[in-house]
Amino acid sequence: DEMDVDTIWMDGEFMPWDDAEIHVLSHGLHYGTGVFEGVRCYDTEKGPAIFRWEDHLDRFYESAKPYELEIPFDRDELTEATIELIQRQELDSCYIRPIAFYGYEMLGLNPSDCPERVAIAAWPWGAYLGEEALKEGVDVAVSSWRKHSSSQIPTNSKTTGAYVNSVLASLEAKRNDYVEGIVLNKEGNVAEGPGENIFLVRDGEIYTTGLAESILNGITRQSVITVAEDLGYTVHDDATISRGELYTADELFFTGTAAEVTPIKSVDDKQIGSGSKGPVTDELQTKFFEIVEEQPAEYSEWFTPIE
Ligand code: PMP
Repeated sequence: DEMDVDTIWMDGEFMPWDDAEIHVLSHGLHYGTGVFEGVRCYDTEKGPAIFRWEDHLDRFYESAKPYELEIPFDRDELTEATIELIQRQELDSCYIRPIAFYGYEMLGLNPSDCPERVAIAAWPWGAYLGEEALKEGVDVAVSSWRKHSSSQIPTNSKTTGAYVNSVLASLEAKRNDYVEGIVLNKEGNVAEGPGENIFLVRDGEIYTTGLAESILNGITRQSVITVAEDLGYTVHDDATISRGELYTADELFFTGTAAEVTPIKSVDDKQIGSGSKGPVTDELQTKFFEIVEEQPAEYSEWFTPIE
C-alpha cells in the first residue's frame, strides 16, 4: 500500500510526509530548475539493498552541474538519509526519489540567489507498466513529439523541467490506447521512451541507441549492456536506429528503473517478432530479476545494503 509511508527527508531533516511542502514561488516550480533520480531498493535474499545507488548518486550530482546547482549535502549524507528513511518506514522493496531544486527567493531567471533545496522520498512501487507488461510485453506507438536535442537541454541531465517532453509523449500514447510512446530525436532517429531506454535485437545481436542520440544514459541500460556482454552477446551500445528498423526488429524491449526490462510486442500496430516476449529479451529479463533477487557475488558492487 503506497500510503503506508509517512516520512520524507528534506533539507537535512526527517519530517511527516504531509509537511514536506514548498513555497508556490519556488524557482524550480516556475522554471523546472531541478534535478532528480529514480532508484529502486530490492528485497534481496541477502536483505534489502539499493540497486546501483552509487551510480544514481553520480548522475544526480552530474545532472545538477549545467544549472550550477550545488547540492548542499555530500554523498555520505544523502546515503545515510536514504537508508534511514527506508528503515524508519520499514520498507523492504521500494522506489526512491531524490530531488534537488532551486527554492524561493526571487523569480528572475538567474537562480543564483535561490536556496538549493533537497528532498528524498521512498515508497512501495510495483511494476511501472504492470505485471502483465513484464510477461507479455507492451503495445507502443512512435510519438508525434520529438525528443529535445542535447543542444537544447542537456539530455544527460535528469532535469525536472525537461520532463514536459516525456509527459506530452506519455499523454499522447495513452490517449491513443498505447501503453507507452517512443520518441524520435531531432534527426528523426529513435531516441528512447518517455521514461525508458530502448533495445533492439536483430540476428542474435543487441543494439541500443547511443548517447549522441539525445538520450538519458539509463542505469538499467548500462546494467543490461553489462549483463548481455557477460552472457556472451555482442552489444552495440552506440547504435543509430531508424524508425523503419523498429518494425523489422526480431525483438524490442524497454529498460528503466521503473520499467525494469519490459518487452515491446508491437509498434504502431505492427507486430514485433512473434508478438510476445522474445527469447533474448526473456534471457536478459530473467537474468536481471535473478540479480536483483539474489544479489550474487559477481554483481555485489551494484548493491548498497540497508542495515
Ligand atoms: N530515459 C528517460 C528519459 C528516463 O526518464 C529514464 C528513467 N530514469 C530512463 C531513460 C532510464 O534510466 P534508468 O535506467 O537510469 O532509470
